[in-house]
Amino acid sequence: MKREESMAIHPIPQWFEGSEYTHEVAACITKYGPISRITLAHILGLSQGAVSRITSDLIHNGVIVETEPGETMSATLPKDFTAASNTERRGRPQTGLKLNCRSKTFVGIKLNGTMAHAVVVDAGNNIVTGCHEAPITDSAPDMVTQTLTRLISDCSSEAITTGLPRPYAVGIAVGGHIEHDTTITFAPFLHWDHDVNLSEMVKQATGLPTGVYNDIDSMLVNECWFGSGVGLRSFATLTIGSGVGYSLAMHGKLIDCADKSYGLVGHIPLDPDGPYCDSGHRGCSQCLTDDSIADQYSRLIGKPVTFDDFERDMRNHVPQATKLVNRTCFRLGTLIAIISNIAMPEKIMIAGESAFIAQRGIDTLRNGINAHRHSQAAPVEFEILDHDWSLWARAAASRVIVSHIG
Ligand SMILES: [Zn+2]
Repeated sequence: MKREESMAIHPIPQWFEGSEYTHEVAACITKYGPISRITLAHILGLSQGAVSRITSDLIHNGVIVETEPGETMSATLPKDFTAASNTERRGRPQTGLKLNCRSKTFVGIKLNGTMAHAVVVDAGNNIVTGCHEAPITDSAPDMVTQTLTRLISDCSSEAITTGLPRPYAVGIAVGGHIEHDTTITFAPFLHWDHDVNLSEMVKQATGLPTGVYNDIDSMLVNECWFGSGVGLRSFATLTIGSGVGYSLAMHGKLIDCADKSYGLVGHIPLDPDGPYCDSGHRGCSQCLTDDSIADQYSRLIGKPVTFDDFERDMRNHVPQATKLVNRTCFRLGTLIAIISNIAMPEKIMIAGESAFIAQRGIDTLRNGINAHRHSQAAPVEFEILDHDWSLWARAAASRVIVSHIG
């Protein structure tokens, strides 16, 4: 039922026809390939005969290929899955299966209020071009579509020049609320005050199927299919920058909630002595945003300054800036502890334009976590992603690949 619904409304056509199991096998190979047929059968609970038939079809359709002799299997497998694979690894070498990465390319775009960044990826979500960028000087939907069309054309030309296939589809990630992967209903940074079917507009302009997605969800899906969240039972992404964002996946699937793109973690109480937000809360998670940090820093040094001034002073080890880094990291640690205590993800990725602050105060961040966790609770596993717009563009493309594989 779920698959029928998504097929009916999703803007990205499926790569191949097949049963639910065919799609599951392709997904499993995408996440864990190169992988043997025996391991696939164990993970999916299918007979080896069924896996053989399905993988033959997928090879015939050009979706997957067999590994070359000597190519090793991937070390990443589902976390719950170890016994069968260990037994198998002692046996004779198996031929591995992997996604036919070079057979398709996709354009991924991160669109924000002032810039758009675009990359081309292959079917394995490896970036295969440079990062193309264009300023958003006029945020009217028509003008944005024109800018995106130029970017898509530039990216496509570069991919074709290097001998890769012309991009098959486009993924666009924005901060905001998107319905049916097509229509932006809320995009504060673009100041759009009505529904915009950006998917249809870009498809009309470029002829390419286009999906539109929330940016933080896209980062999460990217990690769960192609990054450090592969195989984990649960994984969360927390972003800091112009806003505070959060997204959670269970068993590799995004937890969907109609309201979450409105910023559900934006006002969590973190510090009873923190600054007031516009809604009148004291020390809520708004204190982690760039604007609030600029305000707090202005007060600390006694004159109005910008977030960039704070960043420069932080890099120059100005004592007041270091003090604010530590305060911010303790509060961020508090938020991470709250997320860990309630949602219990196995790992949290900290990302966003201001994630560098977390890098500067890791010890304080850990103190913030530990102050709000039971002393015998396991340490919270987290990683900090260095900010890079091409990674956000790639994350948009990951959504298209995931839809295309079904
Ligand atoms: Zn608040």
